[in-house]
Amino acid sequence: MPTPVAGTTLTVVGGDARPGLSGVSSDALVAWFAERGEPAYRARQVADAVWRGDATTAADIQTLPAALREGLDEAFRFDTVGDTELRLSDGGLTEKGLHRLADGALIESVLMHYPARPGQRERHTLCISSQAGCAVGCPFCATGELGFGRDLETAEIVDQVRHAARRLAADKKRLTNVVFMGMGEPLLNLDRVLAAVDALNDPRRFGLGARHITVSTSGVVPGIRRLTALGPQFTLAVSLHAARDALRDVLVPLNRRWPVAEVVAAAREHAAATGRRVTYEATMIAGINDTELDAQAMADLLRGDHAHVNLIPMNPVAHTPWTASPDPVIEVFAATLAAAGVTATIRRNRGQEIGAACGQLAAERAGEPAPAVVARRRARLVDESAHALRGERSHEPAPAGIGE
Ligand code: SAH
Ligand code: SF4
Repeated sequence: MPTPVAGTTLTVVGGDARPGLSGVSSDALVAWFAERGEPAYRARQVADAVWRGDATTAADIQTLPAALREGLDEAFRFDTVGDTELRLSDGGLTEKGLHRLADGALIESVLMHYPARPGQRERHTLCISSQAGCAVGCPFCATGELGFGRDLETAEIVDQVRHAARRLAADKKRLTNVVFMGMGEPLLNLDRVLAAVDALNDPRRFGLGARHITVSTSGVVPGIRRLTALGPQFTLAVSLHAARDALRDVLVPLNRRWPVAEVVAAAREHAAATGRRVTYEATMIAGINDTELDAQAMADLLRGDHAHVNLIPMNPVAHTPWTASPDPVIEVFAATLAAAGVTATIRRNRGQEIGAACGQLAAERAGEPAPAVVARRRARLVDESAHALRGERSHEPAPAGIGE
């Protein structure tokens, strides 16, 4: 650390500059040892300790000479999400993790346990974050309300998974699924997300099959096309929420840049090229996107596609004037989709009482906005959705900072 000049205050920007070890490729680690005149098997020793063992500092790797351990500690961070607060709900079936990163940014991951049922083995699914905050700004989402903080580095994404896997291992359990449905828009941090998926997927590192990894996007069309060109990497989920542009402009502001028909066309090409079914998500909001007209529009949009729709009652988290659609309304919506040959599942949210919805705990830490700000936000949403329900498109620009 530089020595502060007398009379000035030293500001350290960005926290810890050392890269997280779990985001470093095997080749880069071999190269690091080679620079120190060490053989490649040293990299294997470290990788084994990180991925198979439970090393969270270099001191945990006793088979390495002390000087190398020190060197490793100076060059890399063994754990980027170590500072974690856990909250349990649903009788212990849901574990919400709030991770404080080196620069103070807060992100969340949620571990959900699904006990075995007839015909289905037990599952342990982790929902992870790809960014601190999010630039897309969907009004029903607590992360969207926070705004954009920063992209996560590869290791910060992977270490959420290692953290949960260590907790499960202590109970002799294994993580079975990872979903990128926490904070952030994964396709706006795609290089790091792909590197993280690579580490999770690699049998010599985390070793989780690609079929057990799902990445959800709000509809970043260039990102979907890039994935299509790469071939099957994981299951793609697309947050649809509405099939009509006027309404989707409000619910997913990214729609002003990439309208719903383009998003679905890109998802369709992805399904055709990879042979994988696309999953669509729709957060169901009473009186906003759950009407018969919306169900019919969605059915028309997806008719004949190799697709599946998950209908999720809105978690009442953000400062909106809205509430979840009642179950019978969602059932009618699902029936309209089914009549058009589009399969749909109603998915109940987990962990509502601890705020398991995307970004809610971090939003809570950010502090309650002033009542006047909340009132203005509500009034704007009432106004915007009233226009949208009349079919009028938004004149607002697409959110800033969403790339190309
Ligand atoms: N940014 C990506 C992935 C993270 S959000 C995306 O939007 O797809 C993951 C999912 O959580 C999305 O489908 C999103 O619409 C949903 N979600 C966000 N806030 C919600 C809420 N209050 N109730 C229900 N689902 C919500
Ligand atoms: Fe971002 Fe997804 Fe939340 Fe929309 S729903 S604000 S894209 S995290």
